[in-house]
Amino acid sequence: MSEKLMVKPMRWGFVGASNIAERVIPALRKVPGQEPVAVCSRSAVRAREFATALGLQASYTDLAAFLKEGRFDAVYVSSTNEQHCAQTLAALEAGCHVMCEKPIAMNLPDARRMVEAAQRAGRVLGTNHHLRAQAAHRLMREIVAAGGIGRLHGVQVSHAVFLPPHLQGWRLDAPGAGGGVVLDILVHDADLLRYLVGAEPRRISTHVQHNGLARGALEDGAMSLIEFEGGVLAQTHESFVAQHAATRLHLLGTEGSLYAVGSLSQAGTARLWQRDAQGERELEVPPVDLYETGFRAFAAACAGQGAPLATGADGLRSMAVALAGLASAASGRAEAITF
Ligand code: NDP
Repeated sequence: MSEKLMVKPMRWGFVGASNIAERVIPALRKVPGQEPVAVCSRSAVRAREFATALGLQASYTDLAAFLKEGRFDAVYVSSTNEQHCAQTLAALEAGCHVMCEKPIAMNLPDARRMVEAAQRAGRVLGTNHHLRAQAAHRLMREIVAAGGIGRLHGVQVSHAVFLPPHLQGWRLDAPGAGGGVVLDILVHDADLLRYLVGAEPRRISTHVQHNGLARGALEDGAMSLIEFEGGVLAQTHESFVAQHAATRLHLLGTEGSLYAVGSLSQAGTARLWQRDAQGERELEVPPVDLYETGFRAFAAACAGQGAPLATGADGLRSMAVALAGLASAASGRAEAITF
């Protein structure tokens, strides 16, 4: 038997019968050697229906039994946000690698415990910041790092979308589950900015809006100014109520600029332009399955090759930016970002 055929498939368990897991499982199946096995949900009916629809062998409602009987190599946690920490710690304790959804937790001490538990267990903890897999963003990062637009000094992020009706649930009415546009979208933008700028964010000033889609105290629009170590300034706009708006990402350097349209989405397609003394040209951006790419890197990391696109520590940092943004909106002042 060849060495390739002798490699055991990686067994995957899924915590949360979620919308995003429905997208992730087919993407994971495109990565060689990955075997989606079972789901754990709070509802027996939903768990069974999810397992049948996604072709999983088993469904559970008890996390301990799921982790014990599943014999998983890796677990994907995509429950609502307030459950991420406890479920991730349980999966790490059971010896599994964990890919956790963002925000990885609801507060810094919990996020730190997750990162430390993964280190102690010698398991890989990844954060599913899918935008790092977008080919336009990878190219932008390379060009910036190579000095292709001179010194980067400013970034504008317009990540204002319309929240589709099938996602208009806990994000709009459940502060305890981590609802609101800041924990949902600013957290992705914070990670992408760290990735593109190549420096840590130090201070954030955020204003939030209540446009009537989110209920109670939860915000459905936010604008922030983020200051990075080294002096880069970034403006971000996140919204759940922007109908018919393309997302936009603009990097401004001392010798040129990069401008992407449509890159801030789940689709994996985008258009990208570079403008400098030579004029404006469109750069080629191949379409990619963002989730396949992210889980491919994660699976390789579990096999000892490289690191996930975004680690648990990256998830901690993006969450810290979003929490400081919420603190700023409440205090009316710029807030320091601490990890
Ligand atoms: P969903 O609302 O689809 O699912 C969240 C949880 O709600 C599920 O785990 C499930 O819990 C429960 N649930 C699902 N359907 C129902 C229903 N019909 N009635 C009652 N409860 C239900 O959330 P998302 O998939 O949108 O988000 C899940 C996580 O993934 C979040 O942390 C989010 O931030 C993140 N996310 C990340 C994305 C990315 O691209 N990285 C994109 C989208 C989301 P249970 O099965 O335990 O009952």
